[in-house]
Amino acid sequence: INALIGYASLMLDRIYGDLTPRQEEGLNRIQGAAQHLLALINDILDLAKIEAGRMPLHLDDVALGEIMTEISQQIEPMVKKKQLTLSVELPSKDLKLHTDRTKVKQILLNLLSNAVKFTHHGGIWVTVSRDEEDLRFDVRDTGIGIREVDLESIWEDFRQVDQSRTREFGGTGLGLSITRKLVDALGGHVFAESVYGKGSTFTVILPLRSVVRPDDPPRIIDE
Ligand code: ADP
Repeated sequence: INALIGYASLMLDRIYGDLTPRQEEGLNRIQGAAQHLLALINDILDLAKIEAGRMPLHLDDVALGEIMTEISQQIEPMVKKKQLTLSVELPSKDLKLHTDRTKVKQILLNLLSNAVKFTHHGGIWVTVSRDEEDLRFDVRDTGIGIREVDLESIWEDFRQVDQSRTREFGGTGLGLSITRKLVDALGGHVFAESVYGKGSTFTVILPLRSVVRPDDPPRIIDE
């Protein structure tokens, strides 16, 4: 799939010569479909690894500011492309977390890319606050919102609200399911609140110090 995406991109850059408008359209379709398939495969692999207990925690001391800077940099092009605003508020940049950096980033990137994807106007606010033992991340958007009846099912595998509409937005329907499992692995929890048509807030609560639980991998599942 990487080869499909790579060569389609070289062709679109006219490395192999000029293109007719129809050829260009065909290549764009190849690229779009291949990217979707790649995302789907990566998501399924992630889920399978988590379920098989093959995604162990790599705990380390990480500065909150560092994580948030990396995430903002990654999400900024998407935000700019849709002419939205992104605002990040932290209690302190130097606050140290003992956690799995890659998993925290994946959790927040999943929520932020959804926020961007489902918002047409306005912006996204990430507010981080802390208490004694936990860190709370609120990711708020002014997007399409989620009906109350759908607020539970969005966490299920392959679940997308309103198929026809979601198709317009793309995605695999696995992001939130993976997010919840990663948050669980770190000993935290995640939930959503929303006003349909106005926007949504996804909240992640993570312990300042995650621990490896005794039943963590390697684990054998026989069903
Ligand atoms: P995907 O984004 O790949 O469709 P997810 O598991 O990340 O899958 O999300 C599941 C569904 O939850 C989405 O398809 C969408 O219907 C809904 N959703 C998630 N985040 C938001 C959001 N910020 N605003 C509105 N709807 C959302």
